[in-house]
Amino acid sequence: MKRDYYEVLGVAKNAATDEIKKAYRKLAMQYHPDRNNDPAAAEKFKEISEAYAVLADERKRAQYDQYGHAGFDQMYSQEDIFRGANFSDFEDIFGGRDPFGGMFGSMFGSMFGRMGRHRDIGADLEVQVAITLEEAAKGTKVDISYNRTRKCSHCNGSGAEPGSRKTNCSACGGRGQVKQARRMGPMAFYTVTTCQKCNGEGEAFDNPCKKCQGSGKESTKEHIKADVPPGIHNGMRMHLAGLGEYGKHGPGNLFVRVFIKEHRRFQRDGEDLWIDIPITFPQAALGGELEVPTLFGKAKLHIPPGTQSHTVFRLKNEGMPKLHNNGKGNEMVRVIIEVPKKLSKKQKEMLKEFDKEKKSGFFEFLSI
Ligand SMILES: [Zn+2]
Ligand SMILES: [Zn+2]
Repeated sequence: MKRDYYEVLGVAKNAATDEIKKAYRKLAMQYHPDRNNDPAAAEKFKEISEAYAVLADERKRAQYDQYGHAGFDQMYSQEDIFRGANFSDFEDIFGGRDPFGGMFGSMFGSMFGRMGRHRDIGADLEVQVAITLEEAAKGTKVDISYNRTRKCSHCNGSGAEPGSRKTNCSACGGRGQVKQARRMGPMAFYTVTTCQKCNGEGEAFDNPCKKCQGSGKESTKEHIKADVPPGIHNGMRMHLAGLGEYGKHGPGNLFVRVFIKEHRRFQRDGEDLWIDIPITFPQAALGGELEVPTLFGKAKLHIPPGTQSHTVFRLKNEGMPKLHNNGKGNEMVRVIIEVPKKLSKKQKEMLKEFDKEKKSGFFEFLSI
């Protein structure tokens, strides 16, 4: 929620422009980031400057009075709010120049987006592992070896050769940032970038560490064991906080992406496992008990007489466990009737006999 602009500047609703100017001047002197090192000052300075940009502009002020923040913010973007705003009366505060060159709004991104020290957090890393479907069902531990950087053991991460003295960076004067001005006619554009020399740290050493050349880190090979939870799905990432690359203000993360190898017999669909089981024509016709494989053993499946090929039967709770949850999926057994490719003489005769029976039965049925 934005605070009321009048409240921000501490002036009355009917304050004259001169009063508004005076109030802003007082607050700007207090909160200008060049004068106030508190990181919150930049945010505060932006707030009072925005309030001033609106209330010092007759038309914007009238619209703000009528519609309040809700309506006003729909009419003006942040950039529009500052467009045309005049800060030239405050050059003394801004060190004899208008730091925003009349382009206050568009400069905010670079002025304030990088306020405060650049933070060096290590990069994230990803490694990939492949496990079997059985391991995915039971959960497993995987061994992971990978390269990452860690704190330099010689300088303990400081980047300074032991005995070296800390000095303010000469390029940025210890601010970690460099402000550059570019003039275009009457306007000046300012960009703020991270200091290249000190990498935003603001500090330099007269003698950088010999082992890491001042980076504060060294390469290392890691060997870790990671727990894979039962029920994990193919392609999921596990998040291991703090095991990524080294950074002065904290390490990155390690992500372990788990792939599940294809199974010889089972196909996974969510928590269900699918399997095709070949059966003979007599088994299908007469029905009976089948012994079917499960992921960890065997189960009995009863099929009724007259079972058709590709019928699917469900074995409850023989599927994959649910991830981070109780319960299991099912095993879906699809029976496939196989037609024999070779027959003995006796089998052939019996089948012909069977076929005759079937035909007569068929015609009887038709004649009804
Ligand atoms: Zn070092
Ligand atoms: Zn620097």
